[in-house]
Order: sequence, then C-alpha cells, then structure tokens
Amino acid sequence: MNKVVTIAQVKEWLEDVKDPEIPVLSLTDMGVITNIQLGDTVKIEMTPTFVGCPAIDYMKQDIIETLEKRGLKAEVEVNFKKSWSSDLISEKGKKALKQFGLAPPPHTKIFKDLEILENATCPRCNGANTELKNPFGPTLCRAIFYCHTCKEAFEQFKPL
Ligand SMILES: [Zn+2]
Repeated sequence: MNKVVTIAQVKEWLEDVKDPEIPVLSLTDMGVITNIQLGDTVKIEMTPTFVGCPAIDYMKQDIIETLEKRGLKAEVEVNFKKSWSSDLISEKGKKALKQFGLAPPPHTKIFKDLEILENATCPRCNGANTELKNPFGPTLCRAIFYCHTCKEAFEQFKPL
C-alpha cells in the first residue's frame, strides 16, 4: 500500500456498500462493520445481522470490490465477536430507512416491553394509529403494519 489511508477514509468508502435488500442503507450506517485494520491488506470484520436476512457473501464481495476500486486489497471476516443490534443503526441510517418507506426500528430498550412491538409509527404520515398485521414480512427483518390514517400497509425494520 503506497498511499496513506486512514480508517476514517475506509469507512467513508464503505458508505458505497449498501445492504442488498435496503439499497438506501450502507453497511456503515447499519453498524455491521465492527473492526477495520489497516495494512498491506485491509482487514475488515463484520457481524451478521439477522440470520439469513442480508446476503452476507454478497456484501463481503461488495466490500472487497469497492475497496479494490480505490486500490486497496481487502479481506473480510464475518464473526460473532460483537452481536448486532438494530440500535447500532446510525441516525442517518434511520432517516434513510424512513425515506425508503420502512419504519425504523424502535430502540430495543423500549422494545423490551412487548406491547411496543405492536406499535409502529407510519413512515408516510408519522401517525401512530397503526396495527401489526404480520410480524414476518417479505424478509425476516421486516414486519408488516397497517396505517389506519393512510389506509395502507407499510413495513417496519424489526428491532433486534
Ligand atoms: Zn400513515
């Protein structure tokens, strides 16, 4: 590696790598990158989110290719040293989710109270007059709600 590259720079480049299922959410915003180690080969550690939810192999490849374009050799290790929680999604990530039409997950501290799981804020009208329709949406990480104000369904990124 001839160039001086900082961890902050690598993080910024990784903003280009998006969750294949939620193309507005970058892996850094998701909080799945747990460690970056600089060297001849940049070593990146990431933690899986929902089992079988985002395509880990696809994301690994995407990280490697994104850094290759910047002239870096990268290695990605998926491990469980740190467990992922939806609380790790950045504020920017939560905003992006909402714009995408997915209700961001509530903080898990609130979520401990199961009643809260039944409630979600509609990403369209911000209304709370919503109803849980199906805790299992199109993917494991999403639940389907119905907004009585908009009279339309929406999905929530499930808290974990
Ligand atoms: Zn609504």
